[in-house]
Amino acid sequence: MPSIAENLETVRGNIVNAAHRAGCDAASVELIAVSKTYPAEIISHAIDAGQEVFGENRVQEAMIKIPALPGRLRWHLIGHLQSNKVRKALPLFDLIHGVDSADLARDIDRIAAEEGSHPRVLLEVNVSGEGSKHGFSPEHLERNLESLLELPRVHIEGLMTMAPLAPEAEASRRYFAALRELRDRISMKTGISLKTLSMGMSGDYQVAVEEGATLVRVGSAIFGSR
Ligand SMILES: *Cc1c(COP(=O)(O)O)cnc(C)c1O
Repeated sequence: MPSIAENLETVRGNIVNAAHRAGCDAASVELIAVSKTYPAEIISHAIDAGQEVFGENRVQEAMIKIPALPGRLRWHLIGHLQSNKVRKALPLFDLIHGVDSADLARDIDRIAAEEGSHPRVLLEVNVSGEGSKHGFSPEHLERNLESLLELPRVHIEGLMTMAPLAPEAEASRRYFAALRELRDRISMKTGISLKTLSMGMSGDYQVAVEEGATLVRVGSAIFGSR
């Protein structure tokens, strides 16, 4: 079985190749190693292989792991965030990917004001319209974005999506392309760049990079199946 270091090298190489196929700069794509469910000692292997940015999906789990690992690492919250966890999440994470409603964005803004922080967030978009998925519908996002951009504390840096589960990576392409097109449309309308696109997981990150991802969230292809 390949080691975590070898897996990381493979994933990084695949990202570079996918970026080249798309004619974009591989340096514009950041790999988030999704370490949810893996203990600190397993994560250490990835750190030894040079990985410094990690993704967790549960605040409770992150509160235990993050203090146990080197302080220079950066952590992203990739999963759904409940309003009652916002206060605990803010000091732990550099970027919150899953802001999936206007109410949550407003809660984050209010709590950040109380705590004196300026959180960076991505808005999650349910591009596929699957009922089981969190996120703004594209129409709802376009209607609400102006008011969200006025929140004084929250920095909205871009958009995030998850494609429906599918055996073929290619099946994700149209959802990733749709997220990029939505972003481009919003940027044209508002003049705000929303430069970050968080899309792609172990099964489809290469397609995501081809479609313009700037963050890919890869777990099992690095750490092994959960
Ligand atoms: C778990 C998770 C990932 C990583 O999934 P893998 O298939 O293990 O790469 C990416 N994004 C989100 C939101 C996740 O919850």
